[in-house]
Amino acid sequence: MVTQAYRDWVAAGEPWELARPVADFRAQLVAAGVPEELIGTIGRRETHLAVDWPRDHAPFSFTGWPLPSPRWYVHALDLFHQPDLGVDLDVLVAYWLAEARAGRFPHMKYLIWRGQIYDVRDDFVPQPAEGHYDHGHLSFRTDFTHSTLGSWRAVPPGALSKGDDMANEGGKILALLLDGTSPTGTQTYGGGVPRVYLYREMAALRAVVAGLATAVDKLAEAAVSGVGMDPGVLRAAVQEAVVEGLLPLPDKVADEVADEVAERMGHDPTP
Ligand SMILES: [Zn+2]
Repeated sequence: MVTQAYRDWVAAGEPWELARPVADFRAQLVAAGVPEELIGTIGRRETHLAVDWPRDHAPFSFTGWPLPSPRWYVHALDLFHQPDLGVDLDVLVAYWLAEARAGRFPHMKYLIWRGQIYDVRDDFVPQPAEGHYDHGHLSFRTDFTHSTLGSWRAVPPGALSKGDDMANEGGKILALLLDGTSPTGTQTYGGGVPRVYLYREMAALRAVVAGLATAVDKLAEAAVSGVGMDPGVLRAAVQEAVVEGLLPLPDKVADEVADEVAERMGHDPTP
């Protein structure tokens, strides 16, 4: 059953805007390279708006605290856990909780992650909650509706640029460039056209180049150790070196690389 607040909101033309800390938080995530499809703010009609107890994803939340939620502000943000894109909620949640506990992130009302809720009203001591294994949820206090995050950083330096993730993403970007497929496929938030996110592409491409250099070293070793120019061995070496098993290099490409290397080393077998 829908609420009178929902009917009021529809009658008003369904207006909404993000509470200032939510807008700032979202902008910082995007600026740090988080794909917008991984971020949620206003909820979906069926699950968050036209419901009998609207919460902070609705611009007419019934759970505003410490003040009643002002119309028509959204006081919640979801971020999906996508470590292969550098968005690791285990890392970010630990940071946000530490910052909130230290008083540097006072805007947060509660956070839900991996079946636990951390609420300022419980001194952030975790309590059981439902779900939230694929995304983290943050709710914001209504006494900060119009307060900026200021100089506080929602994303700590380096949190989105771990080396393993860059190498993995490099493999994805390489695959996209080589055969036009999208390895991230259906992992978009709220549907839409599947796409590969090219954020941090320069770092990722550097990782690909480093992987290829490693591949060349391995091929040289293989030649010296007498493994020889068996195309299967070479292809396996290339695949292993470039993507470390996280994403298969297209066979056609691996074959071409192996052929090229074999030809060149045939002319000059000295590593
Ligand atoms: Zn949520």
